[in-house]
Amino acid sequence: MRLILLGPPGAGKGTQAQRLVNKHKIVQLSTGDMLRAAVKAATPIGLKAKDIMDRGELVPDDLVVGIVADRIDQPDAKKGFILDGFPRTVPQAEALDRMLKEKGLGLHGVIELKVDDGMLLDRIEKRVKDTVARGEPVRADDNAETLKKRLTAYYAQTAPLAAYYKQKGRLWSLDGMASIEEVARSIDRILEARTAAKVARGAAAQARQPSRPAQAKASPKRTAASKAKPAKKAVKSVTAKRKKAVRRAAPKKRSGRR
Ligand code: AMP
Repeated sequence: MRLILLGPPGAGKGTQAQRLVNKHKIVQLSTGDMLRAAVKAATPIGLKAKDIMDRGELVPDDLVVGIVADRIDQPDAKKGFILDGFPRTVPQAEALDRMLKEKGLGLHGVIELKVDDGMLLDRIEKRVKDTVARGEPVRADDNAETLKKRLTAYYAQTAPLAAYYKQKGRLWSLDGMASIEEVARSIDRILEARTAAKVARGAAAQARQPSRPAQAKASPKRTAASKAKPAKKAVKSVTAKRKKAVRRAAPKKRSGRR
């Protein structure tokens, strides 16, 4: 399963991604987490990204696309992944499309969590309190001032992705203001409905396949005399006409043996 979680900062993408990871045994690929790890480790990407992230702006597309391309090649991503925080711009989405196509991978869908700005501020404040309570360092961009900039960046650069995926018939939008459990249930329902639709499509495609006897009939080389065994096998389910043809051929073969 390969999914994208779309939504503004604080929409609950990380929480839902974590639940899906546990449920479906796939990995969460959060570009925010990857970039923070790069900043912490002072890698060349981290050094380039640090100030941009602290300002609440978006890191250049080529840097992010590069780290995602490397990450989805890792063995633990083979079973599937949830992209959280990526793509964030239309060029990133186009780069992802190309990347997946080159790797022969499909995208199952994009889940958009819609949340009002007022609630986002409350959630970010709660996240800060919870982080402090756990004794962990607070993210430099988790404050009201930077949230405003991150939201501006979201509406200008990321929100157009909803239209991009909607047009491709890949978008499911959900009310991200419902409780964590309700959002989780809605996501599960979407994924179950999608799986059921896929199974139904597979069954319908199989039903449209020509039956074996028809294939045997279509083969010009296959005659009862030259292919006695397969013809006998096929005769079990073929029409009366075909049965007659096989019966006509059978005596010839017996007389040949004598
Ligand atoms: P997040 O944890 O997803 O809220 O990301 C935190 C910050 O990392 C963002 O405000 C951006 O500066 C940067 N970032 C994360 N993902 C991306 C991305 N796909 N494109 C550009 N910048 C990103």
